[in-house]
Amino acid sequence: MSVRKLTKIFDKDPILQDLDLEVKEGEFFALLGPSGCGKTTTMRCVAGFEEPTEGTIWIGGRQMNGIPAHRRDCGMVFQSYALFPHMTVFDNVAYSLQVRQFYRQGWVRKWRVLARLLHPRLGNVSPEVEQKVMDSLALVELTDLADRLPGQLSGGQQQRVALARAVIMEPKLLLMDEPLSNLDKRLRQSMRRMIRDIQRKLKITTLFVTHDQEEAMSMADRIAVLSEGRLMQVDIPTALYSRPANPFVADFVGSSNLFPGEVLSREEHGSWLTLGNGLHLFTSHPAPGEAVDVLIRPESMTLLPGDGEAEPGGNRLKGRVERGTYLGPNVRYDIRVGEKRLLVDIPYKRGQPLLSEGTAVTLLVEPDRVVVL
Ligand code: ATP
Repeated sequence: MSVRKLTKIFDKDPILQDLDLEVKEGEFFALLGPSGCGKTTTMRCVAGFEEPTEGTIWIGGRQMNGIPAHRRDCGMVFQSYALFPHMTVFDNVAYSLQVRQFYRQGWVRKWRVLARLLHPRLGNVSPEVEQKVMDSLALVELTDLADRLPGQLSGGQQQRVALARAVIMEPKLLLMDEPLSNLDKRLRQSMRRMIRDIQRKLKITTLFVTHDQEEAMSMADRIAVLSEGRLMQVDIPTALYSRPANPFVADFVGSSNLFPGEVLSREEHGSWLTLGNGLHLFTSHPAPGEAVDVLIRPESMTLLPGDGEAEPGGNRLKGRVERGTYLGPNVRYDIRVGEKRLLVDIPYKRGQPLLSEGTAVTLLVEPDRVVVL
C-alpha cells in the first residue's frame, strides 16, 4: 500500500500536505501523532471514505482514486467496535461473507442467505461460511461466545469480534484506527500481543493508527510520525527513538532532555557543544549546523554520588537532586544542573532508599549518547 503526495483540504484548511507513505507487503505499519494531526483523515482516504484533494492511493499495486470503499479490499477495525447490536457474534463475523455469497449465488440460495441476514432463525449459513467463521473466532479465542450478542460482551471481547470480522475476508490491507483506546491498560497490553500474533500469522499488511507512542513502538515494524498533516519521519522503532530526525519526533517518541545548543568546535571524533552558562558537552555524532538541538534520553546517563570520582571518563555534569520518583523497575530523578533540569532514569535497586532532595550528584554521559539534531 502506498500514498503519494496525498493532500486533503477541508474548508481551505490543509489537513494533510504532500504525504508520502510506503507500506510493504505483510508489514505492520503504525501512523503515530498527536490528536488532530490527520491520522484518521489519512486512513479515511486510504479506505475510500474521503476523496483526496490531491495525490494518489495504491493498494496491491492498483491505483484506488475514485474506487468506492467496498471495492478496495480493506478490512477495518475502529475504536468504537461498530458491531451490529442485534446480531450474534457468529452473525457479525459471518456478515460480510454472507453478503459476498448473496451476490454470487443463484436465486434460490440468494433467498436463503437473505433470510439469514434478516434473522438467524430464518435461514442457515453454508458449511463453508460456518467453517470460516469458526476459524476466525478461534483466532481471537472467542469460539465459546459465538451465540452471544455484542451487548453481552466486554469491550475487549467486542474488539476481538471486530478483528475476526475484519480478517475473515482475507483483505489485502487491514486498517485499524485507535482500536485499543477504549480499553484499560492491562487489556490493551494483551490485545496488542493478540493483534500482533494474528497479523504475523496471517501476514496481513496493516496500517495501524494511534496517538500512543508506547503502543506504536511495541507493535509496529515501522512507524510514520505525523505532525499537523506533515510527515516528520518514517523508521523502525529503535531508530526513531535513538536517532529522531527533529525535535518534534524526539519529544513525541519517549521522554527526553532536549535543549538548544551551539557548536563550539569540531574535532576528528566529534564536536564540542555548549548549552549556555558554561555547560559543555562532547558528542561523537556529526553536528548538522552551528545552532543545534541536543538530545539526551533519560536512561542514557549514569548517576554518580558527589563529584563522581568513582568513575572517570565521559561528559560530567554536576548537579543536585530535586526529586526522585519511584516507577517500579526504575527511579526517575529530576536533577538540577545549573539552570537546566534533566530527567534521569536509573534502575531501582531493591532495598535502597531514593536519593533525597539536595543530594550532590554527577551525571556521566558518554559522547555517543549525546544526540545532535
Ligand atoms: P484524533 O486522534 O483526535 O482522532 P487525528 O490525528 O486522527 O486526531 P483527524 O481526525 O484526521 O486527526 O483530523 C485532523 C483535522 O481535520 C482536525 O483538525 C479535524 O477537525 C479536521 N477534520 C477532520 N474531518 C473533517 C471534516 N469532515 N471537515 C472539516 N474538518 C475535518
